[in-house]
Amino acid sequence: MKMVQVRGTEYLDAARIEAMQRKRLRRLLAHVLSHSRFYAEYYRDHGITLDRLPEVQLTDLPPINKDLVMANFDALVCDPAVTRAGVEQFLHESSNYRALYQNRCHVAHTSGSSGSPGIFLYGRRDWDLLQALVGARVICYRPTLGRIRYAYIVKTDGHHGGVKLCQGAPWIAFKQMALSINAPLDRTLRDLDSFRPELLAGYGSGLMVLAQQQLAMGTQIRPRRIVSSGDSLTEEMKRTIQDAFGIPPIDLYASCESLAMGVSCRHNRGIHLFEDWHCFEIIGRDGKPASPGSYGRVRLTTLYNYTQPLIRYDTSDETSLVAGRCPCGWPFRMVEGIAGRTEETLWFARDAGEKECVHPSTFATLHVPGVERWQFVQTAPNELLVRIKTTADPATVVRGVREQVMTFLRPKQLEPFLTVCVEIVGDIPNDPVTGKYRLIIPYRSGGQVPIPSPENAVRIHSTRTSENQLA
Ligand SMILES: [Zn+2]
Repeated sequence: MKMVQVRGTEYLDAARIEAMQRKRLRRLLAHVLSHSRFYAEYYRDHGITLDRLPEVQLTDLPPINKDLVMANFDALVCDPAVTRAGVEQFLHESSNYRALYQNRCHVAHTSGSSGSPGIFLYGRRDWDLLQALVGARVICYRPTLGRIRYAYIVKTDGHHGGVKLCQGAPWIAFKQMALSINAPLDRTLRDLDSFRPELLAGYGSGLMVLAQQQLAMGTQIRPRRIVSSGDSLTEEMKRTIQDAFGIPPIDLYASCESLAMGVSCRHNRGIHLFEDWHCFEIIGRDGKPASPGSYGRVRLTTLYNYTQPLIRYDTSDETSLVAGRCPCGWPFRMVEGIAGRTEETLWFARDAGEKECVHPSTFATLHVPGVERWQFVQTAPNELLVRIKTTADPATVVRGVREQVMTFLRPKQLEPFLTVCVEIVGDIPNDPVTGKYRLIIPYRSGGQVPIPSPENAVRIHSTRTSENQLA
């Protein structure tokens, strides 16, 4: 039913979409002012109260960011039974991505491209709307006689946005195969080859690796639709995926904050923003709305999430609006691909020289309590340095990091071949060239690779077991 409603919106004009947005915003504001202690106080401090609502515009509201959301987690959520401590405990105890917190909330967590942790919640109704958006506009579901074979290659070992979203497709209509991005590549390819997916989804860079493997190995995986999300699709990635699988990938704009924000259409002019259920502002460096063609940060409002509403939330995504209308006829504005999300895949070698990759999402979704910021540096072909900023007990943090690192080295069968060190540092500065934070620095990727200082670095894993400390 919701899917029919979502499809109906695609035929409205831009003015109707705007009116719809305003109405939904007002309804959401009335909800947060009555149900969220954080928003009620924050807005009251800015002169915004329930009785003033009819005259309030989106731009009258003070913005928020991830730090504010996490620092005021319990007061911000609109369900008093939900607490940050409770959700963290749940994440710690349950790695089953199908499980719901207190049987009422879907949880997606990330450290994302900003390197600091975030936890995002969706109530059951919020989730249904998300699934309708994905069904109608991303996987473009049409009833068929048999079940559609749907394979997705994502992180499957916890509550990560990608797997949460994919597995939400109804089992009655889809025969699903969840493949771990941490499984050895050759096994993934074999599984896909025998499953013959009609619909294939995954992180852009993961699909790129699969495409390269298909071209090299000559497997015949021929999906009818490919959905890429998580990291930016470059023109080269699009070309390689099309060469390998015979069709261009569809670019889904998603993050833990909202798992379906927009999607590219067949005309490949940009990503259409789902403006009926979100408000998007593109804010330039001067703090003002950026004009089409110039880059700015995405400020997001989720109009469907009544559990943990994000209103004027500053993301770390950068993009620019595309001028003009798209021939597909959708009323939604378009943006270029999302920048600021290009993390690099690390390649290591097994003993026989066989190459194996570790996907950026693996690093972006690790979670160790006490870690404020981290960075993964490949200091040599088979050496990994984990740099940590923390104020917690270093020994506990290092132990936690070791456990987490092993969760991806083991399934990839890389454990016997890698040396891993942890270094506790006072700060992790941004890249001096781009001015941006880098979560992952591949070996010889250009720029300076930080060298660990001997007194702060601890070797947590090595094939050379006699050494514990870095010399
Ligand atoms: Zn279009």
